Amino acid sequence: ADIHYDVHLQQIAKTGQLLVSLQNVEGQAQAEQMRRDFIANVSHELRTPLTGMIGFIETLRTSARDDARARDKFLGTMAREAERMNRLVHDLLSLSRVEAEQRVRPTERLDLRNVLQTTQRNLDRLALKSNVSLKPDLGAEPLFVIGEMDQLLQVFTNLLENAMKYGGADQSVEITSQIIAHDPVLRGPAIGLTIADHGPGIDPIHIPRLTERFYRADSHRSRELGGTGLGLAIVKHILNRHRGRLKISSALGEGAQFTVILPPAPEKS
Ligand code: ADP
Repeated sequence: ADIHYDVHLQQIAKTGQLLVSLQNVEGQAQAEQMRRDFIANVSHELRTPLTGMIGFIETLRTSARDDARARDKFLGTMAREAERMNRLVHDLLSLSRVEAEQRVRPTERLDLRNVLQTTQRNLDRLALKSNVSLKPDLGAEPLFVIGEMDQLLQVFTNLLENAMKYGGADQSVEITSQIIAHDPVLRGPAIGLTIADHGPGIDPIHIPRLTERFYRADSHRSRELGGTGLGLAIVKHILNRHRGRLKISSALGEGAQFTVILPPAPEKS
């Protein structure tokens, strides 16, 4: 009976192994597909402004050659397209840097209120230009996390820029903090920082996919505003590295709320 039992166990082990390796193959195929999609997307995103520029160069060399006004107009458009490509390459490099560092845990003890203050100072000019007032209301308590300054600055820059971009001119953007006793996803206490705008909001069907690379709820508007479609993907990767997460809530016509949720730094001993 013992021998029988052994054979049985071996069979179970083999089936288990087979299942695991089948899952691996499936996972690998999925990763491969994602890589191919990503390259196709990047190529498309770069090609669109390039095709435009090639067309304009041709026009400048032919029909617009002796027309100063047309020349100015085309050069302006070309400068904007080049700027768009520059932003895209910049964001792609940020994303690949964040991905490369994914396994290295950050070590600095930082007060999120300082991170936000610095971000806000950096964005002052943009806020003034679009007549958006940033209204932080973070309470008096320090909000310590373990993080990397540059990356957390990037998180809040991307979220605040989006709130100003999509929230519309002449509006306010509120920034509030929450002490969370138990976050169900982090499975422990957390600090939340919410950035809320009064723009058109986002249809909830888009919300689960917003942090995917190049996913846009409103492609036309994103491109018009010079978006690369990578901002929230970068935010998500940085927060993953910090063992945190991004929560998005919105409804059409009700503005959007983006909450950065991070584990608090352990008490200093
Ligand atoms: P983009 O460069 O297009 O802004 P992001 O990754 O930063 O890319 O954002 C992805 C999409 O999420 C945007 O294209 C936009 O449709 C939507 N989005 C982001 N922030 C907001 C916001 N505050 N209000 C409405 N929609 C937003």
